[in-house]
Amino acid sequence: MTARIIDGKAIAAQIRGELKAEVEKLQKTGLRPGIAVIMVGDNPASQLYVNMKVKAAEEIGLYSVLRIMSKEINQEQLLAEIFKLNQDPAIHGFMVQLPLPATLQEKEILEAIHPAKDVDCFHPYNVGRLWIGESGIKPCTPLGCITLLERTGIEIEGKKAVVVGRSNIVGKPVVALLMHRNATVTICHSRTRDLTTELRQADIVIAAMGNPQFITGDMLKPGAVVVDVGTNRLPNGKVVGDVDWSSASKVAGWITPVPGGVGPMTIAMLMKNTVEAAKGSCMV
Ligand code: NDP
Repeated sequence: MTARIIDGKAIAAQIRGELKAEVEKLQKTGLRPGIAVIMVGDNPASQLYVNMKVKAAEEIGLYSVLRIMSKEINQEQLLAEIFKLNQDPAIHGFMVQLPLPATLQEKEILEAIHPAKDVDCFHPYNVGRLWIGESGIKPCTPLGCITLLERTGIEIEGKKAVVVGRSNIVGKPVVALLMHRNATVTICHSRTRDLTTELRQADIVIAAMGNPQFITGDMLKPGAVVVDVGTNRLPNGKVVGDVDWSSASKVAGWITPVPGGVGPMTIAMLMKNTVEAAKGSCMV
């Protein structure tokens, strides 16, 4: 079997196109959605992600602000910047690019963002709403995974889904989103005794472990849908997922490539969350 490709790049471009049209309409009513991105320090990977986010925001017509702050900044200075953005009526959503320098307390920073503007969905208020199945902001990468399935016409309800990874950013929230769509979900992590046995039962696999090419074709059920969140740089500079493409694509029914799968969706979902926040559908 040769898997069909879930083209995240194309689906994300389609969503950005839809958002652009929506932003144009909103602007005619006098509302221009605004996003701000805060970056602390000069981590090259963070710089790359931040530039991609600002570029996408400009492309769909959002008002966008990029705040680059010195890595010497202290907790109070960063909190002050967050409080300013919380009050700024032109900014409907903003995010702090992670990781932060070790001198800053990430938890306090993320909790200082007003939940209505928390377009990354890291605030405990939004995380709680996500788990109890309330409407509102959903976290970008997990929502991107689900949107890839939905836009490809892959049914989730009643399917057995295995999520590999239990981080607060990807694994746990993707479990919540799958469960609310009536999948039967198993969550695996580094202490899972027999990952292969779990994976071989999965109709849908979401791989978010940060281990390059770890999941191979022989660990999958033939025809499974594989969403590879992993983004790992090999020593030769090549970026690969957590799934071994060459063997897995021979067994899976559908598979996302890396790059060009979940990555572009994360940014598209950030844009979507900002437009929703501007429309007030995420008000708290
Ligand atoms: P974390 O390091 O926070 O979490 C990794 C998870 O994988 C942990 O729960 C860990 O288990 C689990 N894990 C690690 N090794 C194994 C193993 N051998 N077997 C089973 N489980 C394992 O990573 P993130 O969730 O932040 O990111 C995961 C990957 O997704 C990374 O490659 C990251 O770069 C990528 N990513 C991509 C994004 C995108 O937009 N495309 C966005 C965010 C992340 P335990 O909890 O027991 O330690």
